[in-house]
Amino acid sequence: MEVTALRNSGEYGQPGFFRGYARFESPRLAGYKWEICEIRGKRPGPRLCICAGIHPNEVSAIEAAVRLQRAFDPESMEGSVSIIPFINQPGLFEYPDYVCPLDGKNIEHTFPGKKDGTFSEALCDAIMNEWCTGADCLIDMHGGNLRENVSKFVIVQHAPDPQLNARARQIAMCFDAEFVLALPAPFMDRPGTYSPSAFARHGRLAVLPEAGANGLVTEDTVSFFVEGVLNVARTLGIISTPLSEARNAQIHCGDYLWIYSPAGGDFHSEVEPGDRVTKGQRLGTITNMFGEPLAELSAPESGFVLWRVTHPSIKEGSFAGAIGIEENKAMI
Ligand SMILES: [Zn+2]
Repeated sequence: MEVTALRNSGEYGQPGFFRGYARFESPRLAGYKWEICEIRGKRPGPRLCICAGIHPNEVSAIEAAVRLQRAFDPESMEGSVSIIPFINQPGLFEYPDYVCPLDGKNIEHTFPGKKDGTFSEALCDAIMNEWCTGADCLIDMHGGNLRENVSKFVIVQHAPDPQLNARARQIAMCFDAEFVLALPAPFMDRPGTYSPSAFARHGRLAVLPEAGANGLVTEDTVSFFVEGVLNVARTLGIISTPLSEARNAQIHCGDYLWIYSPAGGDFHSEVEPGDRVTKGQRLGTITNMFGEPLAELSAPESGFVLWRVTHPSIKEGSFAGAIGIEENKAMI
């Protein structure tokens, strides 16, 4: 990774505030640069990386990444905090729902990527192996795309290493979330997967908090991210102010089931994020433009609605929502 500094920036790698641009090694990423802010304490310590904007319409997360740049004081902190507020640079001012416009890939599901792959693959590799090298934790902030309403939850990867699991849970509980979702082991082996899964495969830690709705900046959602990240920094020992209150997610999920619509039409949801649902319960109906029912969506297992699509129009085979399966039940 190469950095260039803004005129009013401190020197990269030195105590103080660095503000500038990062460029990555892969030729696939040539021509693009990423805003980066790094705050480094006078005393050495842990390194925390924070990103948003893998999905450009998940705006509360992006706003939080901007505000967090002013939340740390090099005089009193230990270690460093590095923030890239907008990852999907080709999507800037393009507003793609879920993909990188250059290759049509969903960057969120492209980790660990590869250096000589497509743009998104090279970018995921650069995030993991250039920017986050040596980081104690990556926080990859998401949620509230244009057509979705998301409960407050934090995705971690259930890893074979019990120590890594315990650390992941501890970091996830820093957020005032309703749910912690530990992805089951097979997510680690997928060629394109979530950042927590790809990091865990290498014994490293990433967490993915989600919150928000419909492409709106709301203070409630921004503070979910800001307060959660500050609590992570306190837990890692970067800052020493007292932990802010969190309800500490009472519900832990151990599987993540997406619900797909068998027909294209208008989705009339009967559930909202956070709702408990039982196996077989109707989640909503799909109707045509005459109001006639085409299909019903039902819960494949008992669990909790983690998010749902809010725009009525849903394509055949596209996702309508997702359910988290409570952990003790997922284990049975
Ligand atoms: Zn997202």
